[in-house]
Amino acid sequence: MDHILIKNGLIADGVETAQGDILISQGVIARIGADLQFRGAQVIDATGCYVLPGGVDVHTHLNLTANGIRVGDGFLTGSASAAFGGTTCIVEHPGFGPRGCSLLHQVDQYGQEATGQTVIDYGLHGVVQHLDDKVLDELAALAEKGVSTVKIYLTYDGRLEDDQILRVLDRTRQLGLLAIFHAENHAIISFLKERLLAEGKRTPIYHALSRPDYCEAEAIQRILSLAEAAGGAPVYIAHLSTALGLQAIEEGRRRGLQAYAEVCPQHLILDDSCYLEPGYGGLKYIMAPPARKREDCAALWRGLAEGSIDVVATDHCSFNLAEKVALGKYDFTKSPSGIPGVETRLPLMFSEGFRRDRLSINRFVEVTAAAPARLMGLYPRKGALAPGSDGDVVLLDPDLEKTITPAHLFQNADYSPYEGMRVRGWPTLTLVRGRVVMVRGQLVAQKGWGQYIPRMLMTQTAVKEESKR
Ligand code: MN
Repeated sequence: MDHILIKNGLIADGVETAQGDILISQGVIARIGADLQFRGAQVIDATGCYVLPGGVDVHTHLNLTANGIRVGDGFLTGSASAAFGGTTCIVEHPGFGPRGCSLLHQVDQYGQEATGQTVIDYGLHGVVQHLDDKVLDELAALAEKGVSTVKIYLTYDGRLEDDQILRVLDRTRQLGLLAIFHAENHAIISFLKERLLAEGKRTPIYHALSRPDYCEAEAIQRILSLAEAAGGAPVYIAHLSTALGLQAIEEGRRRGLQAYAEVCPQHLILDDSCYLEPGYGGLKYIMAPPARKREDCAALWRGLAEGSIDVVATDHCSFNLAEKVALGKYDFTKSPSGIPGVETRLPLMFSEGFRRDRLSINRFVEVTAAAPARLMGLYPRKGALAPGSDGDVVLLDPDLEKTITPAHLFQNADYSPYEGMRVRGWPTLTLVRGRVVMVRGQLVAQKGWGQYIPRMLMTQTAVKEESKR
């Protein structure tokens, strides 16, 4: 259908809300206003629904294999799962490549694997897993490919040391790239893990205890100091999970640093009591960083409402519980790490954020679509409802209530960390560039409809906050 007219919805973006109509022509938003007409257009009645820009999830691992274990999803079911949850564009984090590989290796491989598979649009992050002059020079080649962000880990085998991080940040600042950090102190985790195992402490609760809040806060403080030394390079902290870490970011911003932060629903909603679930249930929540204390959740909600946290993403990584149990039942350190979530992000944030008065409807849209699009160089093509933006539109029924059950989710994982939660507010229609991908729980997507979206550099795009609380 070349022309789609969405009538009588409550149209909300990151700034304002208004009753009205949206006309999408040839996949692009053509007009927004009251009482629009267009002869021959397919009309969609949005009465009683919010009409939102498609969700943008900038932290997914739809396609990961780690330590020889593959996630359940892959690009096809993972992207369809995203569509069911009202997300129309993801930015995928590739896993580590072969030791010593080129900076382009993972981006090229993931690009090939996504082609012809996804039903929603996607971008790719780079990952700096070792450093030499060749890798430094390849940062420019990455930018040429529309990859405006690189991930740097402070833990795991592909981690960088401070002197290497400084060199990368100096270059990303010059090129206009954004450096994304996994912020945890590797030495502290290794030390605590080893001690806990030696004491025979191998159940899931010790996963949380091996990664204390100060381990994240120290890493964030260090990243901000390195960014300052590198001339004020912009940095983005992935999956911020603690009140202490948030404090570090707020302090960094006060001293003028360009520091951005992302939070995931799991760190807003779950707390570390989850690791005490009976049987092997605690293994469901093995992820890094781990679920934290209730007070951390409260601080993160505050930061998200006030603007010191910019983005809600998921870190979706759909390892199956069966595998977590098979490998981790006698030792939490052996369990695959990561949880599914791309499908439940919008419903959870709407239900727990907007419905519980923690976020306005516009702040909800800002943190789930507009701000991630802006920071990742996708805006205003993505994350906006405006003439010229892609026809990525989601209808969300604010009164549709469901209990989260893995059997009712499209994701290819045998559990949800949110199983049993009553959630009110679910997407009923997802359009990607004017094409219906999901309608009322039915996938009507064409495999491979999703396109690679090259992203703009920090220096080419306005990243300033436009949101109202
Ligand atoms: Mn991740």
